[in-house]
Amino acid sequence: MNLKTDVCIMGAGPGGVATALKLSYLGIPCILVDKATFPRDKICGDAISGKVTTLLNRLDPEIMQRFHAEPIQTDVWGVRFVAPNRKKLDIPFKAGYVRNEKMAPGYVSKRMEFDNFLIEEVKRRDNIQLLLETPIDAYERTDLGFRLHSKLKDVHIDCQLLIDASGAHSPFSRQYAGLEKDPKHHAAAVRAYYRNVSEIPTDNFIELHFIKNVTPGYFWIFALPNGEANVGIGMRSDIVKKRGVNLREELARIIAEDPAISPRFKNAELIGKFEGYGLPLGSKTRRISGDHFMLVGDAGHLIDPLTGEGIGNAFYSGIIAAEQAVLCLQEKNFSDIFLIAYDVRIQRVLGSEMKLSYKMQQIGGNPSLLNFVSNIIDGNRKILEYFSAMYTDFDLREKLVKPWFWIKMWLKKS
Ligand SMILES: Cc1cc2nc3c(=O)[nH]c(=O)nc-3n(C[C@H](O)[C@H](O)[C@H](O)COP(=O)(O)OP(=O)(O)OC[C@H]3O[C@@H](n4cnc5c(N)ncnc54)[C@H](O)[C@@H]3O)c2cc1C
Repeated sequence: MNLKTDVCIMGAGPGGVATALKLSYLGIPCILVDKATFPRDKICGDAISGKVTTLLNRLDPEIMQRFHAEPIQTDVWGVRFVAPNRKKLDIPFKAGYVRNEKMAPGYVSKRMEFDNFLIEEVKRRDNIQLLLETPIDAYERTDLGFRLHSKLKDVHIDCQLLIDASGAHSPFSRQYAGLEKDPKHHAAAVRAYYRNVSEIPTDNFIELHFIKNVTPGYFWIFALPNGEANVGIGMRSDIVKKRGVNLREELARIIAEDPAISPRFKNAELIGKFEGYGLPLGSKTRRISGDHFMLVGDAGHLIDPLTGEGIGNAFYSGIIAAEQAVLCLQEKNFSDIFLIAYDVRIQRVLGSEMKLSYKMQQIGGNPSLLNFVSNIIDGNRKILEYFSAMYTDFDLREKLVKPWFWIKMWLKKS
């Protein structure tokens, strides 16, 4: 089968779907192609931040209403940080919040279900041609733009603009666009599903435990519906290699032996097995577009280097790529130089946040410093409220990496 389109999106994860939906709402038809049959799993922590809900709402508030009506998510109202000295800091997304049934500031939803929900949204749009079970196994540059081939399905797609949203293992991103894996800007993570983990925090605060052997990085517990939880561990890849850490063994060790964690797994049951995957982090600025193409989401190495959050940035980059695609079509210009505008916008929207997260990741790599900070914050309501404001206020967040901020806090406390 030979197909022709202005815009072809390779990969129908969150990044690819966001691109296709945005194009669709802007009235631009596209082809969205994925190798998988949905529902399909994607190894992930399954935490869906306010970025995602905000962007979906902006696209169409009815999408979020439909998501909320599905029994596939837990509502999340904040984050519990646990320092190496085991001090707990519960920081709500909004100080003085009142939990309600309508919309939550964040969610946890298994990717098996969340990504399938997104695919159902794509199916509602009649200007998106969705090709599933169609692995793209070859591509070539043509006069028009690109020609993609799925030899397995005997499908050939000609497009003017290729949007690669095929994830962390994208051969196009690595081989054609030249985004090599750099272990200092890459993380490895292992995830497992459990049933009956005890002492889940009130209002489903997601838990990030900074454990001495696992920094920079963390161990997490995220509550899911039906008494299940997503449990995992992630660390920067260069440190994993340097220290010879086996993340699967480390995760098993924490669950079995860690004095603060293991009692909570006494009656818990593992569902399935431990599974690992890579996270290309956005702590290094790279060129993510070129002649007739743009990279979106993990294919463009856009995961937050502190939190490991990538779904929100996949959404952001997809929406920006769609808007850039419209400009390319209007101007009939798909050149390398014209597409720099995509990189510039990505840097403007995500660049400073990535840089700050990278600085904080480095601070997070020092357990003594984390303990010092947790001692200052411990029980101080004013500081906790201040922290809540930092989720949305970038200027406040920037203060976190300035030593004088902590000295002032320490002086106030003592
Ligand atoms: C263990 C772990 C925990 C994480 N936890 C979180 C978290 O809690 N919250 C968060 O926000 N982020 C988290 N992330 C990051 C998040 O999973 C990714 O950033 C996110 O999935 C990126 O979305 P994407 O659309 O770019 O790529 P993906 O979700 O990987 O989607 C890529 C799509 O491309 C398709 N594809 C691949 N190759 C081809 C091909 N050749 N032809 C056709 N289709 C193809 C795949 O089938 C897939 O559907 C985590 C990552 C890991 C590894």
